[in-house]
Formats: sequence, C-alpha cells, structure tokens
Amino acid sequence: MKYGFYKHLSEIFPSQIMIDVTEYCNLKCIHCPHPVFSESDLWTGAQLDIQTHKKLIDEIKKDGLEHCKYIRYTSNGEPLIHKKFIEMVQYTNKTIPSIPINVTTNGRLLNEKRAIALLEAGVNVFDVSIDAFYNETYAKIRVKGDLNVTRENVLRLIKLIKNKKYNTKLVVSYVEQELNEKETNLFEEYWKKEGADFVVIRPQHSAAGAVEENALDIKNNQISKNVERKPCLYPWERLILSPTGHIGYCPADWKYGSKFVKFSETTIKEAWNSKFMNDLRNAHLKNNFSCHKFCGNCPDWEFTTWPNEGRSYSNVMNDLMDKDEILRKKELAVPSDLIQT
Ligand code: SF4
Repeated sequence: MKYGFYKHLSEIFPSQIMIDVTEYCNLKCIHCPHPVFSESDLWTGAQLDIQTHKKLIDEIKKDGLEHCKYIRYTSNGEPLIHKKFIEMVQYTNKTIPSIPINVTTNGRLLNEKRAIALLEAGVNVFDVSIDAFYNETYAKIRVKGDLNVTRENVLRLIKLIKNKKYNTKLVVSYVEQELNEKETNLFEEYWKKEGADFVVIRPQHSAAGAVEENALDIKNNQISKNVERKPCLYPWERLILSPTGHIGYCPADWKYGSKFVKFSETTIKEAWNSKFMNDLRNAHLKNNFSCHKFCGNCPDWEFTTWPNEGRSYSNVMNDLMDKDEILRKKELAVPSDLIQT
C-alpha cells in the first residue's frame, strides 16, 4: 500500500477543505452524534463568523488554487440554518470560481426560494442525506424530519436544475443501518430513476469514537478478522474549519478532539505544514499514537480509502464535475499577473 502525498493529495495545501458553518441542526438522527453533542458541555451554539469564512476563501485563492480540489460545506450542523450561508456561497463562487462547491444538507430547509438562491449562488453539488426509502423508516432514523417534505424538496431541486439548465449535480446519500438495510436497493433505484447523479451508500462508523457502541463493534470486528491498522487518509487529505473558528483534521470529530489551532492565529498553509500535522502523520505511519490519543482510540481509519485502494468521495466529485465548465471557470479565475507570464 502507498501512504503519503500522491495523486490528488497535496503536501502544499489540503486537497479538500471542509467548512462547518454551524453547531445547530434541525433534526435528531439516531445514527448521528449531534443530539448528544448538543446537550454536552462542548456545544457552544457557535455559528461561523462571515469574516473568518472570508479569510479562509481568500487564503484558498492565494495559496490553494491549484491544490484544493473542492470545498465542502458540511460537518457538525445543518449548513442551511446559518442566516448568512447563501452570502458565504456567493463569496466563495465569486472569489474562487474554479473550485467546485459541495453543500451537504438534510434537505429539510431546501424550499424553492432557498434552492434557487443556492443554485444562483453557484453550488456545484448538493449532497442530500436521506437514509430511508419508506416514510416510517425515515421517521425512526431522521427524528423530527418528514420524508414527504424532504422528498418534495429534492424532486423540486431536480426539476429546477433540469428546467433552468444549471450545471449542478445531485448526490443523495444513505447511511446503511439495521433499520433501513432491507430498503437500500429500493432507495438506490428510486433516486437513480428520479434523476440523482449519484447515490452514496455509506457504512455506519463511530464518528471518531463518539458513538461508543459502534466503536466497540468495529474494534471487535477488526480484532476478530485480524485487520492490520493502516494510516487514516484524512491527515493527508483535508482540513476542517469549525464554527468556533478552530482548524481540525478529522471530519468525523464531534468532540473538538482534532481541533489543534485557532484559525485567527495561523493560515491554512501553515497549519497543513505544521509540526503538529507532520507529527500526526508520522504517528499514523508508525502506528504509534502515544501523543495522538484521539486518532489512537478511533477505529474509523478503516473506512477511509487511499487513492491506490479504490474510489473515494474525491473520485465521485471529480466524475461529477463538467470538465469544460470548470475549465471555463478556471480561465476566468486565473489572476491577471499569471496571464501576463
Ligand atoms: S483515525 Fe479517526 S480520529 Fe483520526 S483522523 Fe481518522 S477518522 Fe479521524
């Protein structure tokens, strides 16, 4: 196996930036750590400050244009709750138009007005987490949600994209678990027939150990099958900006255990090449986590896929993007001083 910076993974700048704009969520999904997180002392109700968001996007333009393959608005809350979310997407699209924007949402707030505003703002990929084919299953998994509302929102989004010829793609996703495992095929067939560009079926992980029962099951399975620990891909692939303005390395972190620096005190480039990140990568390569207990106690490394192991979400994003359109946007994004040379 090959571990390190190769293919889409860049040592200069993260190939994926995740932006977590809010700690709020409108649902209480049973497989998600958010309900526990929101009642814990770690929850602060933070919402990402628009100036901090601007600093990040400006840095991507300055240091990461050739390395950052896409931006993903997702993580520990529902992005559409943030009152300035559309403004943020507009700024990103205007500043770095060559970099695809992915918005992951539960779809509940994606009414017609917001959908049009986000399409106009420049979202390239919507990734809607749905997790059920039947209404009853949805109600049990996505507590406080209503599949009729979400389905209607997503079907309307598909129509808007087609009728108004937006170059936007739709992914629908599904975390397979005991309650929905018998309807996975129905889900996949239904959404492909309705026009989704990709259907992602994900295994349940432990959210970096936050869901203790899952962590134990995964660890026991690894022991019984003698699975040798490999480095987790994430420290080589991405950084995450949290609503509190901290930088972290783990997208599955619900305990602020991977947040290692305040963004106000550094830059993305510096953080990516910091001693902390290099030590962390060495800990993974040597399988010695004495100084990095957060990763050491986590079994979810197993679900990450290195470029030479198979396809990952970055391949999906790459396939979904219309190369001509992105190239056209890239031409517009080339700074004028580069055009002259
Ligand atoms: S090993 Fe676990 S905690 Fe560490 S980066 Fe990977 S998923 Fe996150």
